[in-house]
Amino acid sequence: MTTTTTTDAPALTPESARRDELEQRASSLTIPSRLFIDGAHVDATSGRTFARVSPRNGQVIGHVAEGDAADIDRAVAAARRAFDSGVWSQQHPRERRKVLQRLARLVEEHAEELALLESIDMGKPFTDAVAVDIRVTVQALDFYAEAVDKHYDEVAPTAYDRLALVTREPIGVVGAVVPWNYPLMMAAWKVAPALAVGNTMVLKPAEQSPLTALRLAELATEAGLPDGVLNVVPGFGPTAGQALGRHMDVDAVTFTGSGSVGRRFMTYAAESNIKPVSLELGGKSPHIVMPDAPDLDHVAAQVASGIFFNMGESCSAGSRLLVHRSIRHELVERVVAASRHEVVGDPLDPRSTLGALVEDVHLERVLGFIAGAEAEGATTLAGGRQVLRETGGYYVEPTVLEVEPSMTVAREEVFGPVLSVLTFDTPEEAVALANGTEFGLAAAVWTTDLSTAHTMARRVRAGTVWVNCYDDSDMTVPFGGYKQSGFGRDKSLHAMEKYTQLKTTWIKL
Ligand code: NAD
Repeated sequence: MTTTTTTDAPALTPESARRDELEQRASSLTIPSRLFIDGAHVDATSGRTFARVSPRNGQVIGHVAEGDAADIDRAVAAARRAFDSGVWSQQHPRERRKVLQRLARLVEEHAEELALLESIDMGKPFTDAVAVDIRVTVQALDFYAEAVDKHYDEVAPTAYDRLALVTREPIGVVGAVVPWNYPLMMAAWKVAPALAVGNTMVLKPAEQSPLTALRLAELATEAGLPDGVLNVVPGFGPTAGQALGRHMDVDAVTFTGSGSVGRRFMTYAAESNIKPVSLELGGKSPHIVMPDAPDLDHVAAQVASGIFFNMGESCSAGSRLLVHRSIRHELVERVVAASRHEVVGDPLDPRSTLGALVEDVHLERVLGFIAGAEAEGATTLAGGRQVLRETGGYYVEPTVLEVEPSMTVAREEVFGPVLSVLTFDTPEEAVALANGTEFGLAAAVWTTDLSTAHTMARRVRAGTVWVNCYDDSDMTVPFGGYKQSGFGRDKSLHAMEKYTQLKTTWIKL
């Protein structure tokens, strides 16, 4: 007799009911599967496809057309035709604004579908996808839509009998290559400003997470974007990505991803048509916690969410905690406690605060960093292990390591839920540690002293410095790196600069 099943089953809480519902909806999603070129769904020229394996359980959720150089050629040709026709580039800015605003509304209407696609494609919690990825995508579309018909050009102060106009023109066909960690949001940070100012585009999403970019292109057509203006070609980096980077008819490339691939894009440009390249790359961002830091409970909570949000797969993850020796014990104890409150689990379960890492290769890489750190003498204060193997997915515990500055894990970007703790005695030592990697994306300073806050903010070489907060973000402020974290800036009005070029027109009066 089997009588145990019902009594042993977990109680049906509102969260678990919601999880069942989300699983049900995820299983009935239409998985985008074809390239989007010139306003139409098309197969890859080669006929090849690649499997999309969901990191939540290791199972295939669909097959996507594998674009390569031939498809990039088709997409660039479509983008060129659309650009030259003026159907978008010469539209009244007010009309471009309306299309982008309609697209923002469509993304809102499809928020659940897009968040589900993102969640099953790359493993992030569905709740985070809704709260951050989709919300910020909408903000980006609205922000640049609103900006585009409020931007004026210049008249230079020249001689009385001359008129010199300094105008901004769209740059032409823009190639955008994006990573897998915030697939739709990273795409939107590029697509929204580039389209707003009148360019046409070929977007290559990461092979680990192509689904929402394909859906975005469909929604853009529904919003009224003319055919050929936004083309999406999923495919692999060395084939499709390289073809875009080397294309002679692409006028600019905007790239977000790793430093090693960013370097390649500079080479591609140098060896082809000297197209401008903008790079947003990785980070190893530090928290500097001074002895007078306010409210250590709050600091610990921010340090934990700064590294564990999105499973640590964030370029701005606060992956190093630099703490003054006098408060080291108190703070680290709190951070370890906060790490134990995180819930690693199915991305579709609303209780999960950490989902799955993006793929098996990346899981091995992250575990390799932890094992390497332990071999170099690091002490594991929390986590450190793969969990939930029985699901077939790629899950790692939130991990806190006590390290030395010379260790690999203290210098290189792990891109996983792994915090390195280092101790300092003087402000000089803290600044040297903060600046002691090749990266310079972001940093935080925790202090109640105004002068210390400003001095530290000046001395740390990073594109963003947060004081007594972490990861604060707004579409109105630029985001990008110093040093080998790149030199491009996404977000804010400044991002529009890289998608336009200046023209000077002299008129003799
Ligand atoms: P990645 O560099 O491996 O891949 C990024 C993109 O480049 C993908 O679309 C990929 O297909 C393509 N690519 C890979 N090899 C290529 C090649 N040889 N030629 C042309 N294209 C190629 O990066 P990833 O693993 O997808 O993303 C993680 C990285 O992105 C991390 O370093 C992270 O810090 C960085 N990132 C930076 C920011 C930022 O704003 N600074 C934001 C998000 C992520």
